[in-house]
Amino acid sequence: MSKKKVLEKQALNALEHHILEHCYDVNASKPKISIHIKTAFKAYHFWKKAPDEVKFLRNVHRHIFLVNALIPVTGEDRELEFFIVQRDLNKYLKKKFVGKTFEYSCEQFAIIIKKYLLCWCLRRWRKWSNSIITI
Ligand SMILES: [Zn+2]
Repeated sequence: MSKKKVLEKQALNALEHHILEHCYDVNASKPKISIHIKTAFKAYHFWKKAPDEVKFLRNVHRHIFLVNALIPVTGEDRELEFFIVQRDLNKYLKKKFVGKTFEYSCEQFAIIIKKYLLCWCLRRWRKWSNSIITI
């Protein structure tokens, strides 16, 4: 793994840890409450090194990617508003992936989307905490 990928993975893990710490009941080690975002997008991908038994995956093909994101929240009063998260996620997916071709596996798409959502949540929480401080 390249140094850049290692650093990226460490940053992602730290961010995820921070968010989980914020949202999870440490004793019960499960989320208190979650919002569940479902969406889908169309993109093209291929797997250049696919083994012979699935060699059709070497060709570019259209794929409908189904996204299921379970995001833990601590509050019961729209800490993260479902419609806002879904709207922003759909905007991101459209800009980043729709109609384009990638040499990514489904799992690689999932990691990119997870990273986006982690950063989105962190930005939202920072904005929320800043607004509390300035009131
Ligand atoms: Zn596919």
